[in-house]
Amino acid sequence: MDQLNFKTGMAFNYGEPAPMGPGIVRIVAPNAGPFTFKGTNTYLVGSTSLAVIDPGPDDPLHTQAILKAAGARQITHIFVTHAHRDHVDGVAALKAETGAIVCAYPRDPQATRIALEATPSGSYFVDYNFMPDQALARGDVIAGGDWALTAIHTPGHAPDHISFALEGRNVVFSGDHVMAWNTSVVAPPEGRMADYIASLEILLDRNDSMFLPGHGGRLEDPQRTVKAYLLHRRWREQAILKAIKDGAQSILQIVPEVYQGTDAKLIPAATLSVQAHVEFLIEKGLVSTAACGLTLDCRLEAV
Ligand SMILES: [Zn+2]
Repeated sequence: MDQLNFKTGMAFNYGEPAPMGPGIVRIVAPNAGPFTFKGTNTYLVGSTSLAVIDPGPDDPLHTQAILKAAGARQITHIFVTHAHRDHVDGVAALKAETGAIVCAYPRDPQATRIALEATPSGSYFVDYNFMPDQALARGDVIAGGDWALTAIHTPGHAPDHISFALEGRNVVFSGDHVMAWNTSVVAPPEGRMADYIASLEILLDRNDSMFLPGHGGRLEDPQRTVKAYLLHRRWREQAILKAIKDGAQSILQIVPEVYQGTDAKLIPAATLSVQAHVEFLIEKGLVSTAACGLTLDCRLEAV
């Protein structure tokens, strides 16, 4: 159960639009990395006027590739799945070139800023000053020339994360919430496991035939992947609860129990993931924590 079958194959050329279905093309940005896989996927949707989903990093070559793919067609809307820099930093340049309306779920700037400033990597990954022109709420439908996108608020990886359903097509742009190449990073305080699980369940209740993620190749059997990810997280949660019952007294003590044989490089990420699970177990009343709160060495007890 620990093993998930990730799909890491992906045929593409940087800067070249590749068709993903009628009226949808993908351009991969040249920002490959451990969290971004081959780079951020930018999608162009429509055939008369266009929506761009996730302009990607602030890279003039990538912005030019988007404009070239659009050709004579006007880009009327820019949609952002979440305000992580690899998705949102390219918004300003593309908006300056096109005058498009920027649509995204608004973050609570105060709350996230305070939480993230306590983490060393917060402002590195998150643009907490990003503000859309048009704030989206769950269920909002935005329509353009020959397309309509419905906002599905799917927090968990990020509090502002939105997946977009392309109306009439059973296609969802799943951002960093569900990807084929790897599971989503759920790292507190930006990430929240309770939200992530609830957001997976929202997608499980739908009947889509394809997800187009923010990184990596398309998912052709998305419900199956969502189900596998839910089972995987439940399995991990049970393993963490068992470790606590067996005597692990803190997050730091749980990590080597649950992630045996894990590469030392991945331990910081594994620690954040355990922290996210422990937060969720506390919220569910299955684990209690001593007065020190939820620090990595704070004493935990199964309830
Ligand atoms: Zn992200």
